[in-house]
Amino acid sequence: MLARPAVRALADRVGRASAKAAARAAIGEARALLQGGAETAADPVPDARVLELGASEAAPRLRRVINATGVVLHTNLGRAPLHAEAVRRVVEVASGYSNLEVDLVTGRRGHRSAHVEPLLCELFAAEAAHVVNNCAGATLLALGALAGGGAAVVSRGELVEIGGGFRVPEVMAQSGCRLIEVGTTNRTRLEDYAAALDANPGAHLLRVHRSNFAVVGFTEMPEVSALARLAHERKVYLLHDLGSGALDPALGDYTAAQSLREGADLVLISGDKLLGGPQAGILLGRRALVERCRRHPLSRALRVDKMLFAALEATLRLHRDGRSGELPALKAIHAAPEELRQRATALAVKLGEQGLAATVVETEGRVGGGSLPLRRLPGAGVSIAGGQALLARLRSGIPAVVALLRDGRVVLDVRCVDEVAELASAVLSAAARTGEGAARPESATLEEDEREV
Ligand SMILES: *Cc1c(COP(=O)(O)O)cnc(C)c1O
Repeated sequence: MLARPAVRALADRVGRASAKAAARAAIGEARALLQGGAETAADPVPDARVLELGASEAAPRLRRVINATGVVLHTNLGRAPLHAEAVRRVVEVASGYSNLEVDLVTGRRGHRSAHVEPLLCELFAAEAAHVVNNCAGATLLALGALAGGGAAVVSRGELVEIGGGFRVPEVMAQSGCRLIEVGTTNRTRLEDYAAALDANPGAHLLRVHRSNFAVVGFTEMPEVSALARLAHERKVYLLHDLGSGALDPALGDYTAAQSLREGADLVLISGDKLLGGPQAGILLGRRALVERCRRHPLSRALRVDKMLFAALEATLRLHRDGRSGELPALKAIHAAPEELRQRATALAVKLGEQGLAATVVETEGRVGGGSLPLRRLPGAGVSIAGGQALLARLRSGIPAVVALLRDGRVVLDVRCVDEVAELASAVLSAAARTGEGAARPESATLEEDEREV
């Protein structure tokens, strides 16, 4: 195989190891077909297939994807894309040494959150802040450091699971904090919390944001301010696992600043949800409590890298400088329906010019990332003929495209798509590779209304 001119040329381009792996894979496919009783073709291992597999062998396994799902903070696709300035700062800080844990004024050892703490305090009106790996880690740390060996009271309406197996009762168990359940799924009253504190003096209160679901109908939950008053009367803490890092109340989510103002002692948020930055868990609140978390041994285990701090600082500066509208995730959430229609029309025209029939359709995007579960983002996309097989070919292209299936057709939502021309050529190339990608039985269906966001 390696002596074939086409494969030799491939080896020159992508390296001998990748060309060899591609040839092996192509032979393996041919062998499986022949063993399955397929007709013997003139050349059972065509050069074209080896070249295709070679391109995919040589590409990084973790690679860029064009998000044509209309879900902005798609957890499976990496949530918030970083702003170009954040990326520049990551490259700068990661390419060499940095003052990650050195105070350049005194020359003494500092702590790494110090670079972002003043910005976090200013933006969220918090006394102190600490940064760990993600919000799940922040919750684990806060419970372990402040309530470990003790107990926390949680409403039965908030014993939730948030994407990827973050289950509140399980995280609590891991933190060494005993769970005291109060109330019911739909209704929990202040008296329920008070009774639990009567029976368990010294237990703290934990509020968990209903990030990825809503309870409608006959419901009742005390305000954060009422919970905070009760906690402080009993000399215990109110911890608030909020998830959403929204700064702008106009986004429609409860904000960390609001929670702190209402009296929560410690609020926990994610960096890569509505804050639009890198994956991070941010603890905000009273100085003494933040310090206890910072000094707890779990803090070391949840420590994050210099790249995260570089990206987070740049993202926070954009917020502070009134430039949050430039953050890719917020830009996609706020995109005007008219602008999206124009983008979809441009895509349909490009596809049509190359003979691929495409119609502009209305779409319903989501915020995703377990944020604002009821919010629908009216947008636009392009519908083309094709089913599972085309979706599979779109996914295996370079760049990969993740799209939706609606009524047996493929729909490309353009909300999160910057480069229409690039998407058009990826779609045309996938549509042309008809031989490949017969729907595999294990292929996941991504029906539009089944999107896990
Ligand atoms: C999203 C979310 C989490 C988990 O956040 P990660 O940053 O993904 O770990 C925890 N709690 C709540 C309330 C959330 O919304």
